[in-house]
Amino acid sequence: MTGERFDVAVVGAGILGLAHAYQWARRGARVVVFERGDRATGASIRNFGMLWPIGQPPGPSYDLARRSLECWHTVLRAIGGWHAQTGSLHLAYEADEAAVLAEFARDVANDRHECALVGAAAALARSPLINPEGLRAALWSPIETCVDPREVVARLPGWLRQTFDVRFCFGCAVTAYDHPRVHAGGKEFIADQLAVCPGDDVRTLYPDAMAANGLIPCKLQMMRSAPCPELRLGPMLAAGLTLRHYRAFEACASLAQLVQRLDRDLPAYGRYGIHVMAAQNGAGEITIGDSHEYGPALAPFDETLIDDLILSYLRTFVVAPQLRIASRWHGTYIKHPTAAYTVVEPAPHVVVVTGVGGAGMTLSFGLADKVVGERAGA
Ligand SMILES: Cc1cc2nc3c(=O)[nH]c(=O)nc-3n(C[C@H](O)[C@H](O)[C@H](O)COP(=O)(O)OP(=O)(O)OC[C@H]3O[C@@H](n4cnc5c(N)ncnc54)[C@H](O)[C@@H]3O)c2cc1C
Repeated sequence: MTGERFDVAVVGAGILGLAHAYQWARRGARVVVFERGDRATGASIRNFGMLWPIGQPPGPSYDLARRSLECWHTVLRAIGGWHAQTGSLHLAYEADEAAVLAEFARDVANDRHECALVGAAAALARSPLINPEGLRAALWSPIETCVDPREVVARLPGWLRQTFDVRFCFGCAVTAYDHPRVHAGGKEFIADQLAVCPGDDVRTLYPDAMAANGLIPCKLQMMRSAPCPELRLGPMLAAGLTLRHYRAFEACASLAQLVQRLDRDLPAYGRYGIHVMAAQNGAGEITIGDSHEYGPALAPFDETLIDDLILSYLRTFVVAPQLRIASRWHGTYIKHPTAAYTVVEPAPHVVVVTGVGGAGMTLSFGLADKVVGERAGA
């Protein structure tokens, strides 16, 4: 057989592919990563950079997110660059929002959570940008961590190359795997295992196996402000709409009343799947989003109306009149209707890992640790 030899070939240099490369390489495997683009430009560079365990339902998903966060901190310390454990605040301005937060802190959070219900004064002390008008309560969690996704996804390949001798082939699409032959970019490579982390491209490799998984595409609109280092956001912020978005809050009986009010009073937000969050990076830019439009026929064009709805809701909990939007974009991912991730073995020696939806940054390193640990026996 001709072609360079590796133990593992990883498809995709988004965060899941990079995390798999790391988890294999630190266990001693010789790894090659193939990325069809000249660099990764998918969901992994289009997100908020929120490492957000608090959004996961208590139990296996939350525990996975915590494990992932530990791995993230190890990696972030090693690669350098900006990141900040800012923590998170969910803000409640309405009685039904405060009820959900109180129920979550009292009955749903377990002893692994470090969150607490706090009063308005304590929340305002953490972030000078929070709107004090009508603030009733907040859920404070100290562990959520913010990274700059564009920076971290750009830095990781160089660090993996230098530290573990991981080989990267950019501009090189994998078109087939015929164990142990990897067909990529018109060449042949040899790899004993294939880890496919294709993001939302489930049509190039193993399309039949992937079609059977019920994965749903989703489009999200996002914005980023011009640098405003004079404004200090502090913790990453979320408010009432977010409580119906993350599965963490599903176990709260009080959520039904909140959802009823949101459906009645803010139907456009439901129509476009909008919930609003904000995070500030090291350059002082504030990332704001997002909407969720689902289905196979996602429009390539962005809607100004959606951005306007996001900004209008943002102004209910953030006071920053000088904030100017400098860039707008959208991203896409695929998600499973109920499961936190999708792991499929469509052929011997092959694993496909995708369907991490809106929590791919959060879960990436923990999920890769689990998938690789199960296969490497460590
Ligand atoms: C707007 C937005 C905001 C988000 N915010 C957050 C957040 O704050 N926190 C969080 O935890 N998650 C967030 N997410 C989710 C997270 O970004 C994604 O779940 C995650 O980035 C998915 O990573 P991935 O590696 O699976 O996919 P991708 O980033 O899409 O990477 C897949 C890569 O595989 C490559 N590829 C595919 N097929 C082939 C092939 N055959 N050969 C070679 N290369 C191939 C593609 O070119 C691509 O670069 C957000 C997502 C979006 C869109």
